Amino acid sequence: MSDEKFKFDLPIDSPVEPIRLQAEDKLKFRCHKGVSCWNACCSKANVTLTPYDIIRLKQHLGTTTTEVLKNHTVPFELDAGSMPGIKLRTDNDGACLFMTDEGCSVYENRPTACRYYPSGLLSMRAIDKNIDERSFLLIKEDHCKGHDEDQIQTVQEYRENQGVVDYDDYNREWYVIVLKKRSTGPTIGKPSEMSLQLFFMASYDMDRFRRFVTSDSFRKTYNLGDGFYQVVESDDLALMQFGFKLMRQVLYGELSIPEVEGAWEKRSQEREEILKMRKEIEVMEHDKNKEEELAATILGET
Ligand code: SF4
Ligand code: SF4
Repeated sequence: MSDEKFKFDLPIDSPVEPIRLQAEDKLKFRCHKGVSCWNACCSKANVTLTPYDIIRLKQHLGTTTTEVLKNHTVPFELDAGSMPGIKLRTDNDGACLFMTDEGCSVYENRPTACRYYPSGLLSMRAIDKNIDERSFLLIKEDHCKGHDEDQIQTVQEYRENQGVVDYDDYNREWYVIVLKKRSTGPTIGKPSEMSLQLFFMASYDMDRFRRFVTSDSFRKTYNLGDGFYQVVESDDLALMQFGFKLMRQVLYGELSIPEVEGAWEKRSQEREEILKMRKEIEVMEHDKNKEEELAATILGET
C-alpha cells in the first residue's frame, strides 16, 4: 500500500493514447505560424488552470483575479465531488476566447497547459511521500502538424523554451495538495464545505483571499507580524505561497502557521454563542407562528 501512487495530469482531452516521457527524452516537434494547422489546438481548447496561471492572466489583463474568474473561466471538479477546479472559458464551439488570427492574445502569459501542448505534466505522489514525482505525456494528434517538423529537443529543453519551468515550480506545492486529497479517496476525510471554499479562494482568487487574510478576524487568529502583511498587501506570488501553507493547515492539519494563543477557543466560544442566539430566535419565531396559527383557527371557528 505504501507505494500506491496518485496522479494529477494537466489535461490533454484526446482519444489518442499519450506516450509517457522523462525530462531527458527527445521530442520531435515545432509549432510556428507557418504550420497548416495554425490555431487548430486553440479552436478546441480544454485548458485546466493552475493558481499561478490566474496570477499571470490577471497581470496580462490588468484586472483583478475576481474579474478573471468571472469573465474568462468556468468551474469544474478536479476530482468527482471534491476539489473545485477551473478551466478557460470557450465559445459554444470550444474555441478559446483569447484566440485571434494572429495567435494567442495572451501569449506571454498563456497558461501552463497551453505552454506544454502537445505534451503535458504528469505529477504523481506515493501515499507515504510529501513530494511528487514528475514525468511528462506526449499526444500525437493527427491535426497537429508540428510533429512533422524537423526540430528535435529534449522534453526539458522544450519546457525551458516554453517558459513552463517556473510555472511548474510555483505550482508544485498546489499539485501535492490536490494529490494528497486524491489519496484520501472519495469519502474518507471529505473536506468540509468551508475548507473547499477556502481551497477555491486561496487557489484562484488572490484579491478576495487578500481581503480575507488582512481582515481583523484573521489577524486575531494567526500570529504573523507586520512584515508579513506588508508583503502580502502587494505581492500575489507570496500570497499564493502563503495560501498553500494555509490550505495544508486547514485541510491536513499540518500546523506551520503560528496561531494566537487562545484565539480558536475564543472564536469557538463566540460561534457557540451566536448559534445559541440563532436557535433561541428560531424557537421564538416557531412559537410565534404556532400562536398565530392557533389564534387564526380559534377565530375561524367562532
Ligand atoms: S490561452 Fe492562448 S494558447 Fe491557450 S488555448 Fe487560448 S489562445 Fe490558445
Ligand atoms: S502545430 Fe500543433 S500546437 Fe501548433 S498550432 Fe498546430 S495544432 Fe496547435
